[in-house]
This record gives sequence, structure tokens and C-alpha cells, in this order.
Amino acid sequence: MGGEFRNREIETMTPAELARIQEEKLARQVRYVYERAPFYRKKLSEAGLRPEDVTTLGGLARVPFTTKDELRDSQLADPPLGSHAAVPLADAIRVHSSTGTTGRPSFVGITRHDASVWTDLTARSLHAQGLRPQDIVLHAAGLTMFVGGLPVKDAIEHIGATFVPIGTGASEKAVMALQVLKANVLHCTPSYAIYLAEYVRANYGLAPQELGLERITVGAEPGGGIPAVRQRIQNEWGARLTEGMGNADMAPIIFGECFEQGGMHFNAQEYIIPEIIDPESGERLAIEQGVSGEMVYTAIDRECCPLLRFRTRDRVIVTATECSCGRTSFRIRCVGRTDDMLIVLGVNVFPSAVKDTISSLVPETTGEMQIVLDAPGPKVAPPLRIMAEYGNDVTDLPALKTKIEGLIKDRLTILSKVELVPPETLPRYDMKGQLVRKAYEEAR
Ligand SMILES: [Zn+2]
Repeated sequence: MGGEFRNREIETMTPAELARIQEEKLARQVRYVYERAPFYRKKLSEAGLRPEDVTTLGGLARVPFTTKDELRDSQLADPPLGSHAAVPLADAIRVHSSTGTTGRPSFVGITRHDASVWTDLTARSLHAQGLRPQDIVLHAAGLTMFVGGLPVKDAIEHIGATFVPIGTGASEKAVMALQVLKANVLHCTPSYAIYLAEYVRANYGLAPQELGLERITVGAEPGGGIPAVRQRIQNEWGARLTEGMGNADMAPIIFGECFEQGGMHFNAQEYIIPEIIDPESGERLAIEQGVSGEMVYTAIDRECCPLLRFRTRDRVIVTATECSCGRTSFRIRCVGRTDDMLIVLGVNVFPSAVKDTISSLVPETTGEMQIVLDAPGPKVAPPLRIMAEYGNDVTDLPALKTKIEGLIKDRLTILSKVELVPPETLPRYDMKGQLVRKAYEEAR
């Protein structure tokens, strides 16, 4: 069967063959940053390394990590792109920014070559998710500055599919595009896929699946990988959901899930070296099924803002290292961001796991919930406060509360206190969802 792969050779390569390509490009990239990016010359020198020490995957493990804070400091000290940039802004063709979930955003410049690399790897991730030239894609995400905007447009057009730029906050246009243009693919955040379904029901008196959507590709938050949330979106739309994941400082969509729907394949084989590390010790972990840790990226084909061993703060779990689709790259799920993690009496809790539990009880709940923090995290004194919406037909609220608290105890091994609220009282989000409410900030 033709067209299963965008680049058959790369996507079906053995790990040994791929390592050879990656090491060759790594050696070249390290020499390049050492010569052109003062930030990395200093970092490597301080670690007692010269470019010739970093020519293998083993050698890469000796390079100190790059953190988001360092990038921010580098740009503050040496604006606009920072001393980790290897070419001036004038040589870039476009600038993006990472909308920092923590603090000041950082700018990311790309050259023409960088843009072509981004287009290729992003197209590969979208192709893995089933995107083909005949598709009409409704892109309901931000187009300004956001790496999930224009670079994704480039990739969709590169495949030859039809790109429909809806943007955000334009649900009426989105419905029009579904009805008139017969868009069959929706690209958005999981929160928006749910929001739009509710919008269609409320304003058009239609069931979302009547609009004929076939596939939904989601990203930018973990929702697509939360089983109960995924199930809910697929049921609402009668469409198949797959997810992708990128990183604003590294590349738009680095991972993309194939039709097996068992985790996202790594699709930037010859452009990025991925590592998974123990977030506490920084030790590199073997990429094997079941391994969980923080995702770290090294760009090996980048001109403007090349990063070595960049810590993403994304917590991932390896779901498999082989697949019936024939791709040889490993697959992951993202369980959340390190910044979002809560610790309840020594137990690590990602808000996405609480969301999964609440969503698994639809229709007894609406699936909507928020964790309420009365003091700054990550440590939370038990019980964990959770607000959840009960479903329309629920009459016995005390029984539902007991059921949810019991389920959370069973699944997450923590004590919780659930406050049930009527349907449609918690805030809805048409971009990224907020699973945690910082009540202590509101009280100030
Ligand atoms: Zn696969």
C-alpha cells in the first residue's frame, strides 16, 4: 500500500542506522554552535568539553542541559534572540515566541532552512495522523507568533491538503466551514474540540456528528492522551482523534500518533535527538516500553536558535517501541508538565489523571472539573479539593461524591474532597483548558 509513510526510508530505519545519521549531524551541529553561539561555547568550555568530545550519542550525555530559564536570561542579557542564537535576527525569515506558561515569553527565530526542517517534520507528524492531499483541514488555533500556527499551515499545505485558517474565538466561522466547505479534519486543542461540540449543540440544535467531521488532530495540552477525554471527543463528533506534540522552542509537531492510536510516534528522526531523563537526577533513561521521565531535545539540523539537551519539562511515558504501522520510532504519551505536578503526601499527581477519572464518569458528571488550590503547590495538604460538575440527570449527589472520592483513592492513592456543582457552572475554555484554579491568588 503506497502513501503509508512520508519518508519510508527514515520512518522504517533501524535504531543503529538512525544513530549513525544522528551522530554525523550531531558532530556538525556541536561544532557549529561552538563556533557561532557564545552561550554554547561557554557552556561546553565550562564542562571541559570541546566539539570533538561530542560526536556520539554517548558523548552527548556529557553535555550540560539547557533550561528555559537560561534561554530567558540569555535573551534578557543579549536581546533580541540571546547569545544561544547562532545567526542574527536579520538572517531569519520569521520569528515566533513561546507563550511561556511560566513568566516572560522567549523569541525563536527561524531561517529559511530551519523553516523547511520544521515543515518536513511537522508534515511527517500530520501524515502519520492520516492527513492526505484530499483533506480539508479546519485549523482552529492561534496563527500569531504561536509555533502551532503558521508552521502548521506550511506543513498542511506542503502535504497538499486544504488549509482553512479559522483561528481562535471564531466558532461561527468554524461551523460555517464544516457546513459549506465540508471540512473533514479539525485541528485544535482538545479543550476546543469539546467547546465546539457544546457550541454546536447549544446554538444550532445539531448533534456535532451530523457535521460530518472524519478526523480530529489535537495538541498543545495533554487532553488528547487522556483516555476518557479522547473517548468523549470521539463520541461527540463521531470522528477519530489522534494527538501530536511539539515544543515552542524546538519544533512545531515532533510527535504524531498513527492510526493504531496507541501513543505518538517520534517523527523528527534526522532533525532532533530525543532523550528521556529522570527529572530529579538528570540521568538518561533507556527508551523502553513503560519508561517515564522528562523529554529532552537536541536540535541537530538548525541554524538560528539551535539548542542542545533542552529540558522541556514535559513528563512522558513510552507506550511502545514497535508498531503494526511499520514505523520504527518509539511512541509516547505526555502525562503533563512538571510545572503542573502536585504532590499530595508524597504522591505525585498530574491534574490530567484527575481529569481522566472525572471524565470517565460521564454522564454522571459532565467531565468538567477543576482542582482548587488554597496555597501554592506543588505540595498540597490532603484532601485535594476538586470541583466537578454533576450530570443533568443525577439525583443522588452524596452518592456521586462518595463514588468519585473512592475512585480517586483507588486510582491515584490520594484523599480528595469533591464539591459537586451544577452542569455548566465551571468555566469553559476555547484554547487551553485550566485544570487547576489558584484560589489563593484570587483571595489576595
Ligand atoms: Zn504506528
